[in-house]
Amino acid sequence: MYIEKLDIFSFRNLKNVKLEFSRAINFIFGDNAQGKTNLIETIYILCLAKSFRSRDDSELIPFKSDFYSFDGYFIDETAISSKVAVYYTVTQGKKIKIDGKNINQYSTLVGRFPIVVLSTEDHIITTGPPAQRRKFFNILLSQGSSRYLDDLKKYERILKQKNKILNYSGDRSHLKEQVDIWNAQLVQTGTNLMLDRAKMVEEINGCLAEYYKVITRSDHTLKITYQPCVPIKESQTIPDTFKALLSKVYNKEVKRGLSLIGPHRDEFKISVAGNELRKYGSRGEHKSALVSLKAAEAEFLQKKTDTNPILLLDDLYSELDIERGKRVLELFTKSCQIFITGTSLDFEAIKKTGFTEKDHTTFIVKSGNIARA
Ligand code: ATP
Ligand code: MG
Repeated sequence: MYIEKLDIFSFRNLKNVKLEFSRAINFIFGDNAQGKTNLIETIYILCLAKSFRSRDDSELIPFKSDFYSFDGYFIDETAISSKVAVYYTVTQGKKIKIDGKNINQYSTLVGRFPIVVLSTEDHIITTGPPAQRRKFFNILLSQGSSRYLDDLKKYERILKQKNKILNYSGDRSHLKEQVDIWNAQLVQTGTNLMLDRAKMVEEINGCLAEYYKVITRSDHTLKITYQPCVPIKESQTIPDTFKALLSKVYNKEVKRGLSLIGPHRDEFKISVAGNELRKYGSRGEHKSALVSLKAAEAEFLQKKTDTNPILLLDDLYSELDIERGKRVLELFTKSCQIFITGTSLDFEAIKKTGFTEKDHTTFIVKSGNIARA
């Protein structure tokens, strides 16, 4: 999959920008605060209907304007083209059209245009609390399988209902029966989620270690260890173990008014050479691990969707030297379209290596204006 053209009518500091991209590597250089991240943010929204850095769409509307809007033209592996159009106003909300047809649920978009982003906020995946890693792996799995996304949404709905009951202040004489009903559903959907997660981690670990070695030229192994709330010994026994654990914590859950067991509490431990990255990693190690994770994500998505994802690597060279940065590019599958942003200083450094003069397109961003170098 690649994006051939992008027409931005209005988005943050970008206005009337029309671009044609290389189907291989697109460098986007410029000083700070010029609009580089804004540009790749539009591509992400075209693919997943939401931003990777803002929850609130109204923040994406240019100051003194009342809408944001842009169109992207995609071409897939079988040379079929699709136009995705996004339009948002505060009063009407977000409208997304694929080839002129409104889509009602954003989930129909997820996985159709697979995308991987490395953003400056992503350091939180390796440094932050477990919820950040769950979020990362949830997006990855959802893009790879619509069934996972369905299960996840269902699980979250059930969890919400169960928590509501645990906090109900009215007649609580049938509380146990009611909780049991929701627990039965939690076990069913939660088991699916855990099995998918376990399988994904096994698949990803295969290439993750190799990627990390390529980037760092070390023989340290990068590894994810899946630590589900419910121990997985054999897949058939999960529902019973899950159920037993839920009964065990029932009183505690009632007391706290919170669901304490299930995939919403899973952890994915990330380690380098056996040491937990979160506790012991240097900044360079974190960044190298993160980039390896993203490369593994790209490979996973390629396998699951039979489509090469589009890669957005924002600020790739911060915390990575140019040599490591070069190796990163060698590592991402040759067939993926890649967008890399960097500062003007990165541009000077990369120019010296001669790298930008090959079959890559380079754009320079200045105060919201974007031109080919
Ligand atoms: P850096 O190298 O620092 O990451 P960047 O080129 O990636 O810089 P962007 O994040 O794309 O910078 O932001 C460019 C400018 O857009 C910033 O000055 C920011 O304040 C501005 N901006 C953000 N949101 C809006 C908005 N809703 N309307 C207008 N301008 C905005
Ligand atoms: Mg930026």
